[in-house]
Amino acid sequence: RGSVKPQDILADLRGRYEAVEKKVMAFARPPSFEYRDGAAAGALKGIPVVIKDNICSQGDLTECCSKILKGFVAPYDATVVERLKKSGASIMGKANMDEFAFGSSCETSCFHPTRNPWNLDCVPGGSSGGSCACVVADEAIVALGSDTGGSIRQPASLCGVVGMKPTYGRVSRYGLVAFASSLDQIGPITKDVRDNALVLGVIAGHDDRDATSAHMDVPDYLAEMEKDIRGLRVAIPREYFVEGMDADVRQAMMEAKAKLESLGARFGEVRLPHTDYAVAVYYIIATAEASSNLARFDGVQYGLRQTGGSKDESALVGMYKETRDKGFGAEAKRRLILGTYVLSSGYYDAYYLRASRVRRLIREDFDKVFKEYDVVLTPTSPTPAFRIGEKMDNPLSMYLSDIYTISVNLAGVPAISVPCGFTGSGLPVGMQLIGRPFGETDLYRAAFHYE
Ligand code: GLN
Repeated sequence: RGSVKPQDILADLRGRYEAVEKKVMAFARPPSFEYRDGAAAGALKGIPVVIKDNICSQGDLTECCSKILKGFVAPYDATVVERLKKSGASIMGKANMDEFAFGSSCETSCFHPTRNPWNLDCVPGGSSGGSCACVVADEAIVALGSDTGGSIRQPASLCGVVGMKPTYGRVSRYGLVAFASSLDQIGPITKDVRDNALVLGVIAGHDDRDATSAHMDVPDYLAEMEKDIRGLRVAIPREYFVEGMDADVRQAMMEAKAKLESLGARFGEVRLPHTDYAVAVYYIIATAEASSNLARFDGVQYGLRQTGGSKDESALVGMYKETRDKGFGAEAKRRLILGTYVLSSGYYDAYYLRASRVRRLIREDFDKVFKEYDVVLTPTSPTPAFRIGEKMDNPLSMYLSDIYTISVNLAGVPAISVPCGFTGSGLPVGMQLIGRPFGETDLYRAAFHYE
């Protein structure tokens, strides 16, 4: 920090890229190692940042790793990108991801799957798998991801890096290609807690261009996290420690608890009784919002355009159909069909409306816990990294890899995944710390002292 020249950092990253990228395949397309001098002398002066392929950066391809956005060049910077640039950072390139952030393994990208740097036969998690893999493989220092149901935290856990999903409204979504607008948040992925807090401090804060952006001051995370954690009240929810949890994950959690206790944290057991419904509720709400958000990809304004049509339909309808048929992958189609179904007139009350009500109960579970506790400790993922291909034929088992992360998005609260050990076979395990709304400071404080 300070005395290292940006050109030297880029040369190091280029060296690593050339040595490992063929195996890891973390990027959506080759990054640039040229130094673009950001004028500002801000907190990230000279730091190259990798961003997920669903975040717009002016003049760069932004394809969400989907064929339907082939050739789409963003005409403007997302607010997070604008803020990074103002702080002196430069955008180095775009990370691989599951198509439109649909997935937990980084295997549904239209380009290639990303591999877990700890074991190349395993997935890095997803959907921000490329962002996490490039950081842990030292091909990047900082990456941004997006998290709708776990897409920052689950791959952070499987790759052994720090990933923060901020409170809904903390970071502007302007320029993030929307998946599920009521759940999406952008957040930083880094090797350690300090870097993570530094980057969140840069990208957080109110933005007029995002109507859901919160009018809240951004705390000085770096200063706040130094305060010790004596007396911090940590809750362990009984529902998250059930059978089926991997033995190595359970062991790592017990050790994490002991370490936090030794630092002065006080533990108690709580209930989050509506946890069981979270996955079902999420796959109604997230697919409904996705089907509406992705309706814009019809061959007219963005990316791919196919012409087609039969004699029974107009050329326009033919274009829509062909473009969407050729442009979306299998998982995207599955979600669009599900989302359209739950929103259709006869079923709206039975599915979407009910799911929205249960979502409220899930939020209230957290509200109750945060009356007595500062943070909630859980595993981030029920298992460590799984093998490439293992869950691709079974969407339900893939959906279950997010059982510990999904409630957090439904409730809108912040959560961080922090590395907390390794399995017997050398795969990283992550713990999740969940905070009250705008309680990122408590999460960084606990994570920083734990680390
Ligand atoms: N894995 C979850 C899904 O497939 C979450 C994805 C995300 O957070 N973008 O929807």
